[in-house]
Amino acid sequence: MVRHRGVYRADSLEPYELSRSRIENFVRCPACFYMQQVEGIKFPSIPGYNINEATDILLKRDFDKCRELGVTHSFLRARGYDHLVPLRHAKIKKWTQSLHFGADGYFHTVHQPTNLKIGGGIDDVWLNSDSGQVHIVDYKSTSQKSPGREISLEDKWKASYKRQMDLYVWIMQRMGLKVSEIGYFIYCDGDRFTDKPFLGKDVANMYFKMSILPYCTTQQWIEPTLLGIKNVLGASSRPNHSESCEYGSFLVSSR
Ligand code: SF4
Repeated sequence: MVRHRGVYRADSLEPYELSRSRIENFVRCPACFYMQQVEGIKFPSIPGYNINEATDILLKRDFDKCRELGVTHSFLRARGYDHLVPLRHAKIKKWTQSLHFGADGYFHTVHQPTNLKIGGGIDDVWLNSDSGQVHIVDYKSTSQKSPGREISLEDKWKASYKRQMDLYVWIMQRMGLKVSEIGYFIYCDGDRFTDKPFLGKDVANMYFKMSILPYCTTQQWIEPTLLGIKNVLGASSRPNHSESCEYGSFLVSSR
């Protein structure tokens, strides 16, 4: 059977594949979601966040060494998390590959009431040797603009990070793993206030303040959102603009 992805086809019996970022699009604006998923409108692409990607790769590399050895990392031990060990699992590499999430063996689940296949790519999974559960881990990078501030998850842009974690815990539970409702964010905060020199003879060194933030997930929003998505996918016309749109005030129907 041909996989059902890209533009939605109402007559397809195959589960329709939606990544967590497309679900986030729906949460932010059902009209935008409809234009992309049903009308097939291509939105302008944005350049990749290459420095963030680099910190992800370097973190993964460090945690992979621990995974091979079955030990925790000194970063975790120093913060009292020595019971957390990067998980060894035959499919862990597949679970990290967001572009292929809909293929067999990758990170997804099918929600039967809507026939949606929901998935994505996780950054890491840690085994909790005390509880036997696993924790989903997400890496984030930033550079705070005010000195001395602790990283937190309490600003409006980070609501989407929380939804991402909520969704990934939900998916992994449905994949049959014993998953904790607690996920962890590892934050790399590029320190622009350091007194240490940046430029050396051959290289420049940026220092990152590191934090680990536990987050207790919730799943209450997921089911109603998936049902809402199914309704919008089957609608014959585009939903209205969102009243909370950041681009302006749109009080009339988009058509
Ligand atoms: S302009 Fe705003 S409300 Fe309208 S489709 Fe775009 S994001 Fe949504």
